[in-house]
Amino acid sequence: MLEKKVYICELCGLEFDARQECYDHENSHIKPDRYERPVTIYNAGFSKYPDEIRFLMEDETTVTYRQSAIEPPEQKEASPEEGE
Ligand SMILES: [Zn+2]
Repeated sequence: MLEKKVYICELCGLEFDARQECYDHENSHIKPDRYERPVTIYNAGFSKYPDEIRFLMEDETTVTYRQSAIEPPEQKEASPEEGE
């Protein structure tokens, strides 16, 4: 039996046979600048959640993400101790 080792990008899940190739790939993803706060944009008075969030990235590019879905938190089931 043979065992195969794979390396997986922690950001997108892409798999590689070679560690260095995976490392180089992972570093090709540009992340938000960790020292800059994202800017939240509310387009209307009734906007409960931000309509857009703007990030300054590590390479100083500004990227704006627009809201496409809102998912309410899952309802927790009451444990037997609660509510008695
Ligand atoms: Zn990746």
